[in-house]
Amino acid sequence: MGFNERENAFIEWYPRGYGVGFKVKERLFETQTKYQRLELYETEGFGKLLVLDGTVQLVEIGEESYHEPLVHPVMLAHPNPRRVLIIGGGDGGTLREVLRHKTVEKAIMVEIDEMVIEVSKIYMNVARGAFEDPRAEVIVGDGVEYLKNTDEKFDVIIVDSTDPVGPAKMLFSEGFFRSAYETLNDNGLYITQSGSVYLFTNELLDAYQSMKNVFDEVHYFSFPVIGYASPWSFLVGVKGDIDFGKVDLERAKGLGLYYYDPERHETLFQMPRYVRELLERR
Ligand code: SAM
Repeated sequence: MGFNERENAFIEWYPRGYGVGFKVKERLFETQTKYQRLELYETEGFGKLLVLDGTVQLVEIGEESYHEPLVHPVMLAHPNPRRVLIIGGGDGGTLREVLRHKTVEKAIMVEIDEMVIEVSKIYMNVARGAFEDPRAEVIVGDGVEYLKNTDEKFDVIIVDSTDPVGPAKMLFSEGFFRSAYETLNDNGLYITQSGSVYLFTNELLDAYQSMKNVFDEVHYFSFPVIGYASPWSFLVGVKGDIDFGKVDLERAKGLGLYYYDPERHETLFQMPRYVRELLERR
């Protein structure tokens, strides 16, 4: 598990012996935070690599392959996203992409682990000024508790979490989806990353079912993400009257997206036949 001395590589092991790894130039940092084991590496070809509890969070070169599909499909499908809540996302990549939308007046990020924010600020060039943006507010705390207690309302909620174990487990529960639904404005969108399509199929189906019990509509899409056991899945919950099948191409102009293509939004919904059949059975 983890760093392999002989190969000089970091390898994340998924179920059934499936591995995703990076050759390492330098081991930069390793610590046990209050919540998880945090490791940072300089890789040979992908910049810095952030690892939490043995799982790859991101590599600097290519992190947009995760942050673009997580943020822009919902931001462009919502007619006027002004208030956005991010849960997790300590590296600042999601906040950065959200703030690129001129409609945004306020973006609140609730990250449980302050060390992830600090290490990302010091060692990585991911946030690119997002934390200093006057529209951004960072709260160090548990997203579950925040949603239970807040009186604020949001147009879009983005869950950029670790996988459904440890501090992130509750972020995939029906009770949490219900709090999120209640915290959205009458017309709102919710998105969460939901793991590897092939390797976490059961977790994905459970989250899909729980979201269907709560939201007015639920959509699934997947995307190839550098560093993850791709394709990676995402689940979108709709509250009220928003068509997630359509995005605002005028607002997309000038975003200069590299991975997610708003002009081909419909291609997001292509899925392996067996996934379609599994979802249809739910
Ligand atoms: N943005 C990354 C990427 O490019 O893949 C993804 C991972 S991000 C670093 C995941 C964050 O979710 C972690 O920093 C973790 O501390 C945070 N997290 C996990 N459970 C949480 C919870 N219950 N409330 C708030 N943040 C949580």
